[in-house]
Amino acid sequence: MPKKKRERSKKKKILSIVKKYNFEFLISFLVLLGSFLLLEDFELKKFLKNFSIQIYEGIKFMIFLFLNSIFEYITKIESSDIIGLILIFSAIILMFLRWRNNLIYQYSSSEFCFNCKGKLQRIKRKVKIKIIASLIRLKIKKYQCRDCKLQSYKITSK
Ligand SMILES: [Zn+2]
Repeated sequence: MPKKKRERSKKKKILSIVKKYNFEFLISFLVLLGSFLLLEDFELKKFLKNFSIQIYEGIKFMIFLFLNSIFEYITKIESSDIIGLILIFSAIILMFLRWRNNLIYQYSSSEFCFNCKGKLQRIKRKVKIKIIASLIRLKIKKYQCRDCKLQSYKITSK
């Protein structure tokens, strides 16, 4: 393992040098950048101008492509496609409602800790849980057992 140690001490040495001459590095960087800008002033302006124009054009083109593809898709949809889309959409909604009901059913009974039957104490939820709760329109409360510290949720419909 001496090789690793040597490498580590080398790294430490470099780090300490960087720390020691931090100010000098900064000064030389500023001087270099300043002289570069003085010498290349005109070119840099031109470059920045061209660059921003290119980005602007690129974004414009992307938005155009996006809108165009959406428009083409809408014009291509036929009536049978619309019915198919509605069926798939309602199937997804039914699945979502069933999943939501299952959640309420599974997490409805938590008056006492199911591990040790101890008393539950309400505790703070994470932001993630709050966001999910508001998204699926459910009340989610978080509890912790006073005895065994087991955490659990209680979910009810709003
Ligand atoms: Zn418990």
